[in-house]
Parts: sequence; structure tokens; C-alpha cells
Amino acid sequence: MNPEEPVNILCPYCGESQVLVIDLGDMSGEHIEDCEVCCRPMILSLSMQDNTLIPLVKRDDE
Ligand SMILES: [Zn+2]
Repeated sequence: MNPEEPVNILCPYCGESQVLVIDLGDMSGEHIEDCEVCCRPMILSLSMQDNTLIPLVKRDDE
């Protein structure tokens, strides 16, 4: 079982903060996550810096 890590992100559409649980065994590439508030698709990419998970969120239409 892979470890999972909660990350705080801000929706790039509606600006609401929310927590996503990230599977650390699947950090490569981009993930599509639907915003819990406005249901629009966010493109999430992850990097690790000093053992801290850095989430980067983009809009799907940029
Ligand atoms: Zn949203």
C-alpha cells in the first residue's frame, strides 16, 4: 500500500481551498481532479521539495 498525503490546494476557478489526498506512489505526471465546490476540472501536478509536497494547480482551459 502506498502512503497517502493530504495537500491543501486552491481551486483556480472559484478560489475555494480544499484538501486532496494524494497517493505518493503515483506522483508522476498530471492528475485531473474535479473541484469539490464548482466541479470544474483542475490539472494537478506535484513536486517534492525538502520532503514537502508542493502542489501546482492549473485550469483546464489555459
Ligand atoms: Zn472550484
